[in-house]
Amino acid sequence: MLHKWEGIVLKARAYGESNKIVTLMTREAGKVACMARGAKKPTSRLAGVTQTFMHGSFLVQRTSGMGTLQQGEHFNSMRHIQTDIVATAYASYIVEIVDRLVEEGRPEPYAFDILIQALNAIEEGYDPEAITLFVDWKMLPFAGIQPILHACAGCGAVEGEFAFSFTQGGFICHRCFHLDPYIIRLSPTQLKLIRMFYTVPIEQVGKLELKPQTKQFIKKIVTTIYEEQTGIRLKSRNFIEQLERTPLLQREKKEEE
Ligand SMILES: [Zn+2]
Repeated sequence: MLHKWEGIVLKARAYGESNKIVTLMTREAGKVACMARGAKKPTSRLAGVTQTFMHGSFLVQRTSGMGTLQQGEHFNSMRHIQTDIVATAYASYIVEIVDRLVEEGRPEPYAFDILIQALNAIEEGYDPEAITLFVDWKMLPFAGIQPILHACAGCGAVEGEFAFSFTQGGFICHRCFHLDPYIIRLSPTQLKLIRMFYTVPIEQVGKLELKPQTKQFIKKIVTTIYEEQTGIRLKSRNFIEQLERTPLLQREKKEEE
């Protein structure tokens, strides 16, 4: 059967002399791996469209098992993401987390939307670090985690001082601080921001201007959730951390622009 899917290339790895196995996140069929014959050859018509981050329309022949990519046509080659090292680092993290958390074999339109919105936002020049935080929080349910952020996870109160508790799985109020000796106290602004990342659409996140310390703080919480509760540590996180440790490189980049 021949399928026409809208998709984004999550990854492409070499297979044999000239082929690639391409993992697509499609709108219609969810995550799908397919064989792209000859795509490793620069002259192949599949060479361009099978690059990571490519957003396009893909014609896949599949009966059972792995399909074969017949044809592809790109909508957006994500040029900024392909060429800007900081954008590449964050976008790599985003495609990796989607690849790790989404299972093959069923449509996942919500995950597809998060992915396409996030990549488009980075491509358009929004703060890639804030966009990546958005993806981290939004993808938690795909890791089986539903943090309790609308009220206290201990008693259900909505007023009071709040902290984040890893053991209680979300916010707890000052009346419940005794439940967890390792709470992370939150200011009202931090509380609001975390809620936003988890609930609001990406356009609102993209427009936020966040201080580096604020992003670091919120990132530390969400990264700890992933690492402690799912054991997931993404390879591309290392690359981002390396970039963050070289502020000079980033400053030089900004001056060039
Ligand atoms: Zn409480």
